[in-house]
Amino acid sequence: MAQKMMSCRDVALRLQTYLDGELDEKRMEQIRAHLDACVDCGLEADVFADIKKDLAAQAIPADSDALARLRDFSARIAEEANS
Ligand SMILES: [Zn+2]
Repeated sequence: MAQKMMSCRDVALRLQTYLDGELDEKRMEQIRAHLDACVDCGLEADVFADIKKDLAAQAIPADSDALARLRDFSARIAEEANS
């Protein structure tokens, strides 16, 4: 391929931002291509993605608790309104 590849260092520096999806489309594409071609960076990206998933998973129970409380609250209000 004649297209210029990003270096591993370039990818490492931008990996966090890449996983957050906050790069412009061209850079996202360049990093995606590098991660596909480079096993080392691909593995590193997987580890980072797992960490982010874990963090997100920890945030979800708190959110659904809040949502459940909100639903209970709305249900109670609706019940009171019907009686
Ligand atoms: Zn690499």
